[in-house]
Order: sequence, then C-alpha cells, then structure tokens
Amino acid sequence: MRYADLYAQGKALLEKAEIEEAALDARLLLEHVCETDRTTLFAHPEKEVTAEQQKCYEELIAKRSEHIPLQHLTGQQDFMGLTFGVNEHVLIPRQDTEILVEEVMRDLHDGVNILDMCTGSGCILLSLLHYSNDTTGVGVDLSEEALKVAQANAERLGKESRVRFVQSNLFEALDEQFDIIVSNPPYIRTDVIEMLMPEVRDHDPRMALDGMADGLFFYRKIIDEAGNYLKRGGQLFFEIGHDQAEEVSTLMREHGYKEIEVKKDYAGLDRVVYGTFLGGV
Ligand code: GLN
Repeated sequence: MRYADLYAQGKALLEKAEIEEAALDARLLLEHVCETDRTTLFAHPEKEVTAEQQKCYEELIAKRSEHIPLQHLTGQQDFMGLTFGVNEHVLIPRQDTEILVEEVMRDLHDGVNILDMCTGSGCILLSLLHYSNDTTGVGVDLSEEALKVAQANAERLGKESRVRFVQSNLFEALDEQFDIIVSNPPYIRTDVIEMLMPEVRDHDPRMALDGMADGLFFYRKIIDEAGNYLKRGGQLFFEIGHDQAEEVSTLMREHGYKEIEVKKDYAGLDRVVYGTFLGGV
C-alpha cells in the first residue's frame, strides 16, 4: 500500500473512534512506523510501505482508537525541545509545564542544587539541568517504575553525572538542602478525575493525577516540610491548577515564604506559584 492510502485509512479510523486530533495522530504514527518525517511523507505520497509496516501501523491505529495515548504507542514525548521516553508509569509531560520550567530558569545560576518533588519522567529537572551549567539535582518519586523512566531519560540526555533519583514518600528519604525546590504534584480533585478525557483518566497513572478531595493534599504536605530542605533565601516553585493560586499562595505565606508570585499560562490561566523562603514566621 502507498503512504497516502495508509494514512487516509488510519485517519478515517481515528475519526470514527472520535480521537480529537485524528489527522495529526494518524500522521505521527505513520512517521513512527516508517521511521520517517512529515516532509518525506508529504513529498512522496506514492511511496510503498512494506507489508510489515502496514501491519504494525494498523495495530497502532487500532490501539489509538481505544484511546491509548499516542505517546504510549510511540514511547516518547517532546518537552522543552528535548525528547523524553515515557510509558504508562509516568505522567506524559505537558506543554503547560514548560511555563514552570521557564520560570525556574530565570532564577537559575551556576552551582545551584535543585530538588524536583514528584519527578515522574524527570522532564522538569532534566530540562533545567540541560539548559544550565554546573547545576545538580535530585528527583524524588514514590513510584519505582517512574524512577526507572527518569533514570533512562537522564542517560538519554547525558545528565546522569549531575542527577540522582531517589525513591521516597515526599521528603522522607532526604537529608540535604537545596537552593530550589520545584514540583508539579498531583493536583486534580478526586471527583474531577472521572470527567477527564479517557487518554488521561484511564492511562496517566492515577497517583500522578489525584490531589485528593480538594486537590491541595500535596501542596499542604510539601509546603509544610519544604522549609526544612530549603536554604534560607531558597525558592519553592509549583505548577498549580487554574483555581488553586490563592490557596497555594496563602499556604506559602503562612509558612514563611515572601515575594510570592503567580504566573499565567498561554491560555491566560493561573499556572505557576513561587516564592522565596525566609525562614519560619
Ligand atoms: N514532574 C512530572 C511532570 O511534570 C510528573 C508530575 C506528576 O506525576 N504529577 O511531568
């Protein structure tokens, strides 16, 4: 079969299955299977695929039709211009989270030590290390399976000498101090999870989403303890849900943080809160 026909067939099947970005996903899966790129696909629509490629593509289209995320089929997601390996044990890196990384980057200087709490794929910490010099970091997660993904990503990006991944229930296993703590913790209210799109609800790890009854469980825990692990004058950065800025800012203020700022994402929604730790109040 020709590229163009196989693509048209894949696109039609995804549309029928009500996959949001059917055309895009059909193309990306074809690129993945044929190990090619967009330009080649469109410049040579008449090119024949092998029987094996066709079979592989049809299997992937069938899986995508069941709302298995594209990234679980290709095994990767780009974030901050870097490619991260992903699987069902980690939250797929979101474009919104790039706002958090960019805010932290403004305050990075040589030699800082960064803690990434709830590191998942390691995308936040590894991006920060990639775009700075002489920085080091620790990535913490409760999930051993997630840490394997993060470690593989560190190796893939050549950052393994500057990073350590630690299995820990929040701060439990830590005994050092950091200049910066960054976290994109689970922050979705439990009752909202059932309303999310199936790709997220059924395929992102539940433990990476669930912020308990009011969505703020992890912010409370982290803000309660972060002061013991931050140098005086150190900074705490959070990604937040669009309606959590006020509560998270208040919690930080009550725990000795000053210069608290809220940043919006490109959709105009509150997305990041950060502040400077100046000791207990
Ligand atoms: N830090 C990871 C990310 O932002 C995982 C976050 C999570 O599991 N809640 O992608």
